[in-house]
This record gives sequence, structure tokens and C-alpha cells, in this order.
Amino acid sequence: MTTPVLHTGPAADALDGLSVGDALGAQFFVPETARAHLAARTEPSGPWPWTDDTEMACSVYAAHSERGAIDGFDLTYAFALRHDFDRGYGPAANRLLRLIREGGDAGRLAAELFDGQGSYGNGAAMRVAPLGAAYAADPEAVVRPAADTALITHTHPQAVDGAIAVAVAAAYAVRARTRPVTPERFLESVADLTPDGPVRDGLAEARELLAQPDFRVAAQVLGNGSRTSAADTVPYALWCAARNLADYRTALWEAIAAGGDMDTVAAITGGVVAAHTGTGGIPRAWLAAREPLPGWTFPEPGGVRAGGEPHLAPISLPRPYPVPDLVWSDGRWERIRRGLGPREADGRWVSYTSGGVLHLHRGTDGREIWRVRVGRVKGGWRPVSALVEADPGHLRGRDDHGLLRDALEAAEPGRDARGYGLRP
Ligand SMILES: [Mg+2]
Repeated sequence: MTTPVLHTGPAADALDGLSVGDALGAQFFVPETARAHLAARTEPSGPWPWTDDTEMACSVYAAHSERGAIDGFDLTYAFALRHDFDRGYGPAANRLLRLIREGGDAGRLAAELFDGQGSYGNGAAMRVAPLGAAYAADPEAVVRPAADTALITHTHPQAVDGAIAVAVAAAYAVRARTRPVTPERFLESVADLTPDGPVRDGLAEARELLAQPDFRVAAQVLGNGSRTSAADTVPYALWCAARNLADYRTALWEAIAAGGDMDTVAAITGGVVAAHTGTGGIPRAWLAAREPLPGWTFPEPGGVRAGGEPHLAPISLPRPYPVPDLVWSDGRWERIRRGLGPREADGRWVSYTSGGVLHLHRGTDGREIWRVRVGRVKGGWRPVSALVEADPGHLRGRDDHGLLRDALEAAEPGRDARGYGLRP
């Protein structure tokens, strides 16, 4: 028996590869640094701060490992609350994430971008390789969660397709650890699971160009991300990865030396290649030069309850119920969001959240009594609507508003009776 070690494995490898690529690529936006180092393929001295690509990829990684699945509501607010203006986000992303943080309607705001066509940028593709690497057993199964992570900020089909292609590529890259694959077959497998459109067309072109000895020529045809669209970024990044799946260093130099959106191309290439090589394939000096990843990237795996246990029965007859007027702090919602298992619940309530809905089940028989939708407001969170079990066979007692308030009080693991930012 070996002691289980947390946060190792293909998804963590991909996150290392992605963040090193992002941080190294971002070094080359200073022209003098770029010229000297690119000519000799020597890396600049550290530390290399990472950018928006890594910040968002850490959120994707954390969201997936805490739940074992992607929850769109949780990931939306993870992106928005961790958004650091100084990490090189584009102007549209900066505005979008700030408005979501302040309580704006996330779905509507994302769909309104770019005159209502939604963003077709490479921002959904740049952050998704760690998710893909978790799906090596079944690459097809990552298509839907990859699309879910994309749609939070990028509603244009091209951006979604870019995220699907990169996630699938990472899954196949892990799989190639035990089932070797040719570069042709690798790109073909990725294209097979990518919906029809410019990204898939670009992957077909990339496959045609695999024999091209000069990466500059390939980048000229496929695009190097200088237009920051998914179709202008993903095919070249995956061309670099396909040709150098076992050679992180060469893959990264080709990704960066073509110019364009260097941090993002290198983040995508690096995430996919490290999904194959493992973190051990990344030059040690490069890992050491990369700014450390934030501590929140590594939550307790499975620390957020996903619900769905067979003994939990849903509400049988739902009826609207008035919600108490209260606002939770970020810290308080964070604890409620994790849910209460039978052990912590002390026999009273078992709870879990899904898509921003808090499900409260009676601990004694597993019956769902309340279902509470939660919304973001500036500076906190509040219950916005609720349903109660109305079948008289299941719920008896006073029909006053205090019942739900009490249940919500009890829904916080390790709660302190004084409350956290609770307003009367
Ligand atoms: Mg960036």
C-alpha cells in the first residue's frame, strides 16, 4: 500500500504544463527579451509570472477536483471572484467578470458580448487542458463538460469548439502514454470529436502540414493567435503538440517562436504535451522559474458534495415558499456550498448544492424538504426563491418563515451560531 498523494496525476500534470507555457510565453512580449532568447532558445531568468490563462485554468482544475464534475454555477463565480485585473485579461473579460461579481446575470452578460454574437476568442481553449486530461479513459466524455466550461464566458460556437478540441487533445495525450499514437492519428482523433466549423477545418489543415519542417510556415497558414480567435490559435497549438508530444521543450519553443498570442498558444501546447509527458517532462528550471500556483488551486478532492445518493428522495409535491431576507458573506456561502453529509449533519439535515440550488434533505429519512435557489449580489449571496415539500405526508409543522431560516442556519458545516455576515 502506498500513501495516497493528493493532486498528482494527469490533470495536475496538464496544469503544470499549461502554467509553465503561459508564464514562459508571457516573457516574450518584451521585444528585447524575445529576440535574444528566441535566437538561442535560452530561457529568460525567473521568476515568470503567469497570466489569465493560468488563473482560469486553476479555477477549472479546482472546480473539477472538488466535485469530480463541472458545476457551471460554481465555476462562473470562481472565475469572477478570483479575477485579478493585473493578469492580462482582455477588456471584454475584465468587464464581464466584474459585472458578474457585482451580481449581474452571468448568462445574459456573456451572450451580449461582441454585439450579441458572443466571444469567439481563445479564452475558453486556453484554460481547459487539465479538465481534458482527467478524461483519458473516455475522451468523448469530456466534450460536454468542456463545452460547459467554455459557455460561461464564450458563447460563440467557434470558441466552444476550440475548448472541446483542446480538452479532447489532452485526453488523447494522456491515453498515448500507454497507447502510442502517430501525430496524424492524434490530430485526426481530436478532429473527429470537434464539431464542424473553422476549428475543425484548421485541425484538418494542421494534419496536412505535419510534414512541414518549418514551424513558421505552419504558423503562417494556421494562424498564431494574433487575431486571438479560437480558430486562429488552437490548430497551430495542437500542431506543435502533435509533432512533439514527448518533447515538452521543443513543443514550447515552436509554440512561442511563431509569435502572436504567445502565452496562450504555449499554454495550450504545454497543457496537452505535459498531459502526455507528466510534470517530469517539463524542464526543472522552467518549473522553478514559474511563479507558484495559488493555494486555492488544490482543494480537498471531493470536498464539495455532489448529491445524488440513492437514499436522498426529491421533493414529491413542490410549493413555493417565501425566502428569508438575508445575505451570506463569501465565506459563509463557501461553507454552505460544500454541503453536509450524514456525519456532519448530526441527523438533522443532509445538503448539497447543484447549479446554484441548495437542496436540504431531512437527515432522518433523506426526504428533500427545501430547495433554495441562491443568487449573487454585490458583496455576497442571498436565497432568491425556494420550494418546500407540500405533501402533508412528509412535512408537518408550522408554516411560518422561521422554519426555512432555521434550516439554512443549520446547513453550514461547523457553523458558528453567531453567524457570518448574516444580516437580520
Ligand atoms: Mg494570458
